[in-house]
Amino acid sequence: MSIIYLDNNATTKVDPEVLEAMLPYLRDYYGNPSSMHTFGGQVGKAVKTARQQLATLIGAEESEIVYTSCGTEGDNAAIRAALLAHPERRHIITTQVEHPAVLNVCKQLETQGYTVTYLSVNHQGQLDLAELEASLTGNTALVTIMYANNETGTVFPIEQIGLRVKEFGAIFHVDAVQAVGKIPLNMKTSTIDMLTLSGHKIHAPKGIGALYIRRGVRFRPLLIGGHQERGRRAGTENVPAIIALGKAAELELLHLEEATTRERKLRDRLEQTLLAKISDCEVNGDPTQRLPNTTNIGFKYIEGEAILLSLNKYGICASSGSACTSGSLEPSHVLRAMGLPYTTLHGSIRFSLCRYTTEAEIDQVIEVMPSIIERLRAMSPFKNDDAGWLQEQEQALIHR
Ligand SMILES: *Cc1c(COP(=O)(O)O)cnc(C)c1O
Repeated sequence: MSIIYLDNNATTKVDPEVLEAMLPYLRDYYGNPSSMHTFGGQVGKAVKTARQQLATLIGAEESEIVYTSCGTEGDNAAIRAALLAHPERRHIITTQVEHPAVLNVCKQLETQGYTVTYLSVNHQGQLDLAELEASLTGNTALVTIMYANNETGTVFPIEQIGLRVKEFGAIFHVDAVQAVGKIPLNMKTSTIDMLTLSGHKIHAPKGIGALYIRRGVRFRPLLIGGHQERGRRAGTENVPAIIALGKAAELELLHLEEATTRERKLRDRLEQTLLAKISDCEVNGDPTQRLPNTTNIGFKYIEGEAILLSLNKYGICASSGSACTSGSLEPSHVLRAMGLPYTTLHGSIRFSLCRYTTEAEIDQVIEVMPSIIERLRAMSPFKNDDAGWLQEQEQALIHR
């Protein structure tokens, strides 16, 4: 059975051109880019070209790019560096809907004497700029806010946020792992100080990411050792992956406009057809400020995990956005922060497309979904009319 892969916000397929570009650096050109000999030197040149390709994608300077092992490392390094740059300030602002790579770092920092403000979101997953303004003080060292949400695709007004952050002299870090390649970015005209991206979300392999650090922003490395990355990230470069990320960045830029237009059309058709064919479902997220490739749909009265298992039988890969923690099915922190009702919280599914998604694949999902939902609802313990039981469940969730 062939796979219909609609889980591209979790990870993406390595583009065949990207694989071709990196292979010589696994097979033949294994020299250390820091070595004095020509064999290593030519690898160093290739790394430089890749760095230019990546910098071009986000409108940055080559010298402002630091390679990391993943998006998580970029987020960790940026947050730690920002705090060291402003040692006298002890306040951080983030949101309730960040990726765990930001959220859990902030939680740990709370145990180390920092105060963290977790900005709330509305029913559509959108921030309130007034709440941000009210939270900013002269004690705010760092504001770390994602560009686009991985679960709902909601896009935050990053530049409007940045202007307010700058008034208070705080560092502005943006986790743009989901935005890169989907939204045009230009650091030259941006208020962003540091920006995280990850290779495996843009058709490069896993194990490579990058952190953009605006020239002039004070930075302290997370990894201390050799002089690689201008002393900002020690460790011998992951050359094949760096070459791959460069190629992937070049392809993202090349395809950005046409691919996102195509994906948006396919996504909208998927979404609108499902909403029309299936009762009691709704789209989670901001209907206008949203990534072109993502749709998160809540199907009431059923479990998202049951939908995923049914889809899996057809080779369809999607995601429920909720992690299975210690045996209990915890609903997604993002959907909870949006204040979705209990029924929708549990039955929400994310489909995330990419430039390889075909019309036939979307047709197949449209074909199988209505009967899957109908069948699951017929066996569902949730009852449309059992309002008392539902209320109890919602209360239990709130008080947990
Ligand atoms: C995937 C993701 C990350 C983590 O990136 P890794 O490379 O998997 O560590 C961070 N933030 C967001 C928004 C993501 O979607």
